[in-house]
Parts: sequence; C-alpha cells; structure tokens
Amino acid sequence: MRVVLMGPPGAGKGTQAEILAEQLEVPHISTGEIFRANVAAATELGREARKYMEAGEYVPDEVTNAMVAGRLAEDDAASGFLLDGYPRTLAQVDELDRILSGLGTAIDHVIEITADVHSLAARLHNRAKVEGRMDDTEKVIKRRMDVYRKQTEPLTAVYRERGLLTQVDGIGSVEEVSKRLVEAVED
Ligand code: AMP
Repeated sequence: MRVVLMGPPGAGKGTQAEILAEQLEVPHISTGEIFRANVAAATELGREARKYMEAGEYVPDEVTNAMVAGRLAEDDAASGFLLDGYPRTLAQVDELDRILSGLGTAIDHVIEITADVHSLAARLHNRAKVEGRMDDTEKVIKRRMDVYRKQTEPLTAVYRERGLLTQVDGIGSVEEVSKRLVEAVED
C-alpha cells in the first residue's frame, strides 16, 4: 500500500499518519519530521531547512526532492509507505511520479484531511502550548496556512483527476478520524 496523506497545518495529519502507518504496517515517512530531526542534530540539511521552516515557508524543492528520493529507495519502503507532508508542490508531484516509476510502482491513494479554518487555528495554538514547535507562532501559523492554500491545495485537483483522491473530514476525536481514514484506504 502506497499512500500520500495531505492536509492543512493543524488538520491532525501527523497524529493520524502515525496511526494509519501502523495499521497498514508500512513506514511513516514525514518530511517535516525528517527536517526537524536534522535541525535538532544541526546537520547541513538541518541548517538549510531551518530558515524556511522558521518563516513558515517550504524548503526548496531540490532539497526536499533529493531527501525523499533517498528515503524511498531504502529497503523498508519497498513494499509500501505512508508519505506525510509530501508532495506539497506541483514540482514535487512530478518528482514523486518520476521516483516511483523508476522503482516500478505508483501511488494507490491520496487522502486529504479537511477542517475549517477556525478548528485548524485552535489546534495549532493548542499545539504551540504543548509542543512548542518553532513554527507554531501566530505569524508563522498564518503564513503556513496561506502557503498551503496557494501551493498545496492545487494538488488535490491533480490527484482527483487521476481518480486517487479521497477527502476525509478531520473534525472529531482522534479515533473517529482514524476510522474514516482506514475506510478511505480500504475503499
Ligand atoms: P510538517 O511537519 O509536515 O508540518 O512540516 C513542517 C515544515 O517542514 C513545513 O512547514 C516546511 O517548512 C517543511 N516541509 C515539510 N515537508 C515539506 C515539503 N514536502 N516541501 C517543502 N517543505 C516541507
């Protein structure tokens, strides 16, 4: 099973991705988490990514694409994966197609978790208190929402056209949303 999980900041993407990957028994590949780990370890990649993340901007496609190509070539991703937060731009969609056709595979499902702006903002402000992520400040949250709308939302039309997209309501308890996601991939 090869699944892409999309959703605006605050939709609960990370939490749900973790649960779904476990249920599908595939590796959970989160580009945001890989970047954060690199920032914490002060690697070259982390230093590069940090300036964009702090501003709520996307890390440039060349950097992100190279990282994902490397990760998808690892053994554990050979029989399936759950991509969390990638692709996020049209150029990344093309790159993912290229990577997967090189590996002789393709995506099975693209799921977008949806939620209204007020719920998203409330969740992000709550997460800011709990996790203290560097990109959960008021100004950066707003920027990340705008970036999602402009750069990532258009991807849903591309995947809908290909018959791969399912939109799942992200409002509800973690368990409720998780159940909807499982139903969406089993469909
Ligand atoms: P996330 O944890 O998925 O919300 O990602 C946190 C941050 O990492 C994003 O706001 C971006 O700065 C960066 N990032 C994660 N995934 C990507 C991606 N596919 N393309 C560019 N930047 C990304």
